[in-house]
Amino acid sequence: MIPARYGASRFPGKLMQDLGGKPVIVRTYEAAKETELFDEVYVVTDSDVIFQEIEMNGGKAIMSKKEHDCGSDRIAEAVEFMDVDIVVNVQGDEPFTSKEGLEQVLRVFDGPDAEKIDLASLMTEIHDWKEISDPNCVKVIVDKESFALYFSRSPIPYPRDKNAAMQYYKHKGIYAFRKQAILDFYRLPMRSLEAVEKIECIRYLEYGKNIKMAISNTQGIEIDTPEDLVRANKVLKESKKETVNNKYRNFPMVPKVVFGQGCFDQLSSILAPQRKDKAPFIFLVDKVFKKEQALIDRINLRFNDKLIFVSSEEEPKTTQVDQIVKDIKAEFTFKPSGIIGIGGGTILDLAKAVSIMLTNKGSAADYQGWDLVKTKAVYHVGVPTISGTGAEVSRTTVLTGPVKKLGINSDFTPFDQVILDPDLTVGVPKNQWFYTGMDCFIHCVESLNGTFLNAFSQSYGEKAYDLCMEIFVGEELSEEESRGKLMMASWHGGMSIAYSQVGVAHAMSYGLSYVLGTKHGIGNCIVFDHLEEFYPKDVILFKKMVKKHQVEIPKNLCSNLSEEQLETMIDIALSLVPLWENALGDNWETIMTREKLKALYLKM
Ligand code: NAD
Ligand code: ZN
Repeated sequence: MIPARYGASRFPGKLMQDLGGKPVIVRTYEAAKETELFDEVYVVTDSDVIFQEIEMNGGKAIMSKKEHDCGSDRIAEAVEFMDVDIVVNVQGDEPFTSKEGLEQVLRVFDGPDAEKIDLASLMTEIHDWKEISDPNCVKVIVDKESFALYFSRSPIPYPRDKNAAMQYYKHKGIYAFRKQAILDFYRLPMRSLEAVEKIECIRYLEYGKNIKMAISNTQGIEIDTPEDLVRANKVLKESKKETVNNKYRNFPMVPKVVFGQGCFDQLSSILAPQRKDKAPFIFLVDKVFKKEQALIDRINLRFNDKLIFVSSEEEPKTTQVDQIVKDIKAEFTFKPSGIIGIGGGTILDLAKAVSIMLTNKGSAADYQGWDLVKTKAVYHVGVPTISGTGAEVSRTTVLTGPVKKLGINSDFTPFDQVILDPDLTVGVPKNQWFYTGMDCFIHCVESLNGTFLNAFSQSYGEKAYDLCMEIFVGEELSEEESRGKLMMASWHGGMSIAYSQVGVAHAMSYGLSYVLGTKHGIGNCIVFDHLEEFYPKDVILFKKMVKKHQVEIPKNLCSNLSEEQLETMIDIALSLVPLWENALGDNWETIMTREKLKALYLKM
């Protein structure tokens, strides 16, 4: 419920002010809906103007019948005859309400002390004495179970002992009520503490209710003044980029890696300290190794460890991840000690996704996108047996889902440990070696020619590019040297796109793969062969490499596609906005039109 009063004392009509082309209240409404945390979202208002605006934008609004002094009374009136269990009060003037905060406040109702809770609210750490002593900032103190003891505009507690460590908290005006709690309070007379502090939630304490406080440190912007609105407009302008390609991103990296011929034998001793009592290690191994007993013996299964052979015939799917997770959960009572992926990009991505889905609810499809994973994955280790994708180092796991082909891109995706043993790649067939190796080359080209390029991605990209030149164009390297170098090129190529993005070839190759099931490496090659308009010098170089290594690049894949298949292909490719932004800049949509994309596909 979003209570919305038209006349705010400090900034009249603020909810109808323009914020990036829509009124503030509409932004707030949309933000609340987008969290997908609620069965229903309503604006409850005293104003015809706000009511109509929300309805006009396809939202749901309720007119309050009576005059109310406060938001919760307005909500109480609205929910009195509704069938609800928990009602969340989202402030109308907080258009950047974060999903994280709302989730925190709802999560307390799943806790062991849920019975005791009448309502829940949020608090944020504050550190600056100026803020702590500012009467506009409401402070809260809590007991050891995080139930609110008191709210005040004074600094609480008073820091008599200046040396005692104390964390101060600011109260954020988001509440989640049990329906009964909000009805109990409807129109209860204000008492003296609330009256003197002018803090609404003190009333609940004065009537003996239990307020559980959750902590959220994500900062929104409240629109209290015209200056706030200016600031909010600025944030909004930048926010589209911020979520996907924030200028200053804070990246996790693979914390541990071993490299060198034969280092695969370290696996057991690396895993040993990670083993938890009775909890198995699960090894996901490419089916191609099923007959390679010598390699399997080196894995050294212990206790109830399990080895699962997985086919990499097809691109990994969200349904496949869900099935593996389901099987593991059905077989073992304990959450595995770790997941170890041994294979190419397909198996590495599956291992990453399975480790995430063992600790996160729902389907892998729910997490395709940027930063949707909330809970840390189980320990996971990557052991590449073919080089080029960079999947061993990347922050994503590319999956084909029911509606899209998109990675689970999150801080919890990267491996905890990677084992880089170039000898494991000895048996890779020539064509496959080339296709996967070209994935690396194309990562570098797309990163180095992209608009997102910075010194970070450039330094990795250039190194990987040079290594690819040595490997695929040069004449000097022994096979052994070449294997080691390609393994490192793959790593650097992956690092290069971490702080950048891929580009045209990848966007188009995802479309091919979604409709035709074309595998990533070969798909990239098919596409890249026709991209001289975008990457002129590198496409020439690519053709040279194809010739030198006598590999075949399939042609005429799209000539027999139905109109519908082509349209889907185009939809999938165009949905990868950050890739296009990187490749062609902000105005990419004027360059890569549907017609243009169609013409390109038809050439393939
Ligand atoms: P792959 O894992 O699909 O394997 C390709 C083929 O090589 C398979 O037939 C496999 O059995 C075989 N193979 C692998 N190692 C072998 C060995 N040592 N000896 C003999 N045969 C061997 O290929 P890939 O190109 O490494 O991975 C492609 C996948 O990686 C795609 O699904 C793509 O989406 C994904 N990818 C992920 C990222 C990422 O950042 N997560 C980046 C790029 C690509
Ligand atoms: Zn790739």
